[in-house]
Amino acid sequence: MRWQPAELVATRTESASARTLVLRVPGWPGHRPGQHLDVRLTAPDGYHAERSYSLAAPADGDHIEITVQRVRDGEVSGYLVDVFPVGAFLEVRGPVGGWFVWTPETGGAAVLIAGGSGIVPLAAMLRARRKAVTANPFRLLYSVRTPEDLLYADELAELRRAALTPAADPIGEVCYRGDPESDENIDLFLAYTRTAPPGDPRPPGRLTRTEIARLALPPSPAVACYVCGPTAFVEFAADALVSAGHAPAMIRTERFGPTGG
Ligand SMILES: Cc1cc2nc3c(=O)[nH]c(=O)nc-3n(C[C@H](O)[C@H](O)[C@H](O)COP(=O)(O)OP(=O)(O)OC[C@H]3O[C@@H](n4cnc5c(N)ncnc54)[C@H](O)[C@@H]3O)c2cc1C
Repeated sequence: MRWQPAELVATRTESASARTLVLRVPGWPGHRPGQHLDVRLTAPDGYHAERSYSLAAPADGDHIEITVQRVRDGEVSGYLVDVFPVGAFLEVRGPVGGWFVWTPETGGAAVLIAGGSGIVPLAAMLRARRKAVTANPFRLLYSVRTPEDLLYADELAELRRAALTPAADPIGEVCYRGDPESDENIDLFLAYTRTAPPGDPRPPGRLTRTEIARLALPPSPAVACYVCGPTAFVEFAADALVSAGHAPAMIRTERFGPTGG
């Protein structure tokens, strides 16, 4: 894989600490939802910094999107979120990864479990799922600190509006359940760890094993699980899925540990 120049053509603020970067990469070979790329920044003195970022949207010609969350004292993330200007260039190499992917051809149902910025590759899967005319059930469990930290809040709000009334839902008041008769057969469960929005009946706190067992779709060879987030979160959630009866072979994980060089 070779490094390719990428121009920042647009940005979207996702939260106070995260921004989506829309990059134009002439000759981008395309990618599958869930894959990531490597980004390389070069200083005038030749110093390089490389980091991995998930592709946030399905392939769209030579345009790709990444969403970067600022990490405290981070060398690259703060620069990409706060400084890197439209019209500037960096280099990308990718796409990378062939296991943590979902395409409409994958078929079956999917449980997506995100911790913080781990929502990014899962958003690419959700977006691909929503574009495809398919009734594959999707269930997203998204753990996030506060309502202000939600990434893709507008899209999630759309899903909530399209959902059946939460009160009618047998799997919990705080879960927005998609209509099984519609293409928007996507369920959404938001777990706020620090501050919940007013009226949320779930007290703030980390996702528990019980919630994961109760809210993930029932274990089956037709249910694939995708877990992404900080390493400790991924290990906890994957372990909870196994305890709930999901076969390890059906659980795909992506750890957002530190990358670099
Ligand atoms: C496959 C993969 C995909 C990724 N996708 C995304 C993505 O879509 N969006 C995104 O925002 N990030 C993503 N990351 C994380 C990203 O690669 C960087 O690690 C992150 O942006 C921090 O880089 P930095 O240069 O700002 O921090 P650094 O200067 O490398 O580190 C600064 C400090 O923060 C700690 N730190 C570094 N990275 C993390 C982290 N991820 N979580 C917690 N603490 C950390 C370090 O230990 C250090 O103490 C992904 C990582 C991997 C491996």
